[in-house]
Amino acid sequence: MLHRLQMTWELLGRDILVGQRYERNLRSIRDLAVVLMLAGTVMFVMNLQSRDYLTSLTSIVIILAGFGVYRFVKKRNRRGAMLLTISAVVLVFTYDIFFVTNGFAFLWTMLVPLAVGYLFSVRAGILVSVYFWLVFVLAFYTPLRALVETHYDPIIMARFPVLFLFHIIFTGFVMIQYHKSTLFQMEYEAQLRGAKESAEEAWRTAETARESAEKANAAKSEFLTNMSHEIRTPINAVLGMNEMILRESRQARDLLPGEREAIRGVFSDISDYAGNIESAGNSLLSIINDILDFSKIEAGRLELSEADYSLRSLLRDVSSLIAFRAREKGLAFRLDADSGIPDILCGDELRVRQVIINLLSNAVKYTSAGSVCLTLGMDPGPPAPEEGQVRLLISVKDTGIGIREEDIGRLFQKFERVDLRANSTVEGTGLGLAITKGLLDMMGGSIRVESVYGEGSVFTVSLPQRVSSEKADGTAHSGKSLRETACQESFRAPEARVLIVDDTRMNLTVAVNLLRHTEVRIDTAAGGAEAVALAETVPYDLILMDQRMPEMDGTEAMRRIRGQTGGANTDTPFLCLTADAVNGARERYLSEGFADYLSKPIDSRALENMMMKYLPAEKILPGRSRNEPEASEEAPSFAAEFEPLREAGIDPDAGLGYCRNDEAFYRSLLLVYAQSAEEKQREMQSAYEARDWKRYAILVHALKSSAKIIGAEELSGIAARLEAAAEEGSAEEIGQLHGSLRERYARMVSCVLSVFGSEESAWPEEDEILEFLPES
Ligand code: ADP
Repeated sequence: MLHRLQMTWELLGRDILVGQRYERNLRSIRDLAVVLMLAGTVMFVMNLQSRDYLTSLTSIVIILAGFGVYRFVKKRNRRGAMLLTISAVVLVFTYDIFFVTNGFAFLWTMLVPLAVGYLFSVRAGILVSVYFWLVFVLAFYTPLRALVETHYDPIIMARFPVLFLFHIIFTGFVMIQYHKSTLFQMEYEAQLRGAKESAEEAWRTAETARESAEKANAAKSEFLTNMSHEIRTPINAVLGMNEMILRESRQARDLLPGEREAIRGVFSDISDYAGNIESAGNSLLSIINDILDFSKIEAGRLELSEADYSLRSLLRDVSSLIAFRAREKGLAFRLDADSGIPDILCGDELRVRQVIINLLSNAVKYTSAGSVCLTLGMDPGPPAPEEGQVRLLISVKDTGIGIREEDIGRLFQKFERVDLRANSTVEGTGLGLAITKGLLDMMGGSIRVESVYGEGSVFTVSLPQRVSSEKADGTAHSGKSLRETACQESFRAPEARVLIVDDTRMNLTVAVNLLRHTEVRIDTAAGGAEAVALAETVPYDLILMDQRMPEMDGTEAMRRIRGQTGGANTDTPFLCLTADAVNGARERYLSEGFADYLSKPIDSRALENMMMKYLPAEKILPGRSRNEPEASEEAPSFAAEFEPLREAGIDPDAGLGYCRNDEAFYRSLLLVYAQSAEEKQREMQSAYEARDWKRYAILVHALKSSAKIIGAEELSGIAARLEAAAEEGSAEEIGQLHGSLRERYARMVSCVLSVFGSEESAWPEEDEILEFLPES
């Protein structure tokens, strides 16, 4: 009971001028004002009849007050209306009390609480009403009694029932309005609650459905990803073994004397079959890679890894690949690039390359005669490129079969292949364009297609890429164009001192040589322990640390250097050198405490960019012109002396690229490689025989990057596979590949020695720690 009373009291205390009810209450106040004017008019007439002229004036004030309220409410001025009502009421009340004690004060005693109840809350109205009644009764008890007893005036007496009537009407009006609005509010709230509950229920159902759909999709993607991984491993083994069949059957064929024609024929057939296995295996591998990429994109698990790259070298790689395929089909291939595009861009080079290759491969695939043309320009927008960005406009045009207009909408859907009648002989999964679109979406780009069926198609990509600014102030090199960078000036920093740590001497030699022109003072250390000892006393501006080293790895060495009490390099930035620059590597190395990382083999431009970023700005001076030979779109022509290397699987173009096209340096590197091979092979063999896979992994890891530097991609690939196998401890796979690695390694070494072997030893006679002082 008490609780209900309390609830009612609470309810009465609620501000009734809220929300939708505010509108309704304002309308009610306006009605009240009209009633007030009517009441004033009635009183005015009654007072005139009783010749009570002074009180008639009071009635005029009532009419005016009512009118004022009405006007204010119409103009939606709530506070004004309130003030006017109260001031008018107070005015009349005061006048009534002091001048005419004929009972009109009664009216106000009733009206004021009503107005208050209306405007604020019924509770406030009741309180004021009680207060007024008390004051009224106390103040007018005597005059009222005298009035009734002495001057009995029937007209005045008749006013009392009229006033009570008004009071009852007003009170009823207020209460009904109040209840109506409260009911309305309650109903509205209940409806709202119901709607909210059912919306929440629907949302929960949708959420559960979404979760289970997501789970199913994730499971599918997981399955596809795992499957692709699982399938890739045996395919790689098949291809590796097949490669051996291919090579050995060719060798056997070539070695057999001419009269063994029949056996030569057999080997010839074997090598043809193996060739077929190779091409089928490669296309299987590319399908699996597509599925892997696509399932990763769909599951949102594909990460972009951004870094500086050279657009020019990307274009060169892509064009040489596509030009080859186009030539095989008798098609012309043309590259047309706007030379004003900045060369060094920042983005995910691998994915940009994938997009361009996908479009170009399709163009070659779906064209039987004519040409394929790759055009690169800058897209002014809209949307306009952001500050520090360019929008690449990449367009791939072919004179192929074209696409019907009605098919264009389906092109980018997964597994969608169009015009199957015309394409029945063309292999494909229908994933290429879906992957392309997915990658572009992730990179903020877009793609559109124009095509005339039977005449050809144009695929146009617009892709934002950041223009690399190597220095924080954006002055150095930023915005250099494709042409300018070819002969760009580098930097010099003769005051700077850098430590490079790597267990492979060849890597050290390369890094030192790549930086020679910068005049930076370079110390090298061949292992973690040596680096720790050196770093204790010599202050460096930057330390480049190989990650994977025997005995002490890069992270451990860095920790020890950082932890040296009173050490000279506790705050020096460390760059991680790694051959495993996979997705997420950057985050991992940063979390370990490295400032950044460089992937091996070291690209000279990337190395310089990093140096400029992390060396103290005051030590960096503008470079002297390097007279670097200007790179052209065609592959540069190299001295004929390197050509025989191709026989042994060494690509001198790639090797020279890593050596800044410095032929003398490349030559000496090849010799270093060859001369250190014997020892390396011995170590590898002993680890192999002892089945010490940990050590074996480290050795083939080193071989992976050193082989890559000289351009021996294939050998590097086998080393990479062996590294993976050694990490998994898969003796069977190692057993399969070890022989092939040895054989290939030996062949390369003998080829290098037969070409350059007569030259003097490549190793400079010096300590393990090489120090290069600035050139005078
Ligand atoms: P596919 O593996 O079948 O090539 P894509 O996703 O790359 O898958 O392409 C989807 C379909 O789009 C192809 O099957 C082909 O019908 C059509 N297509 C793509 N590029 C071209 C082109 N340059 N000319 C004509 N048709 C094309």
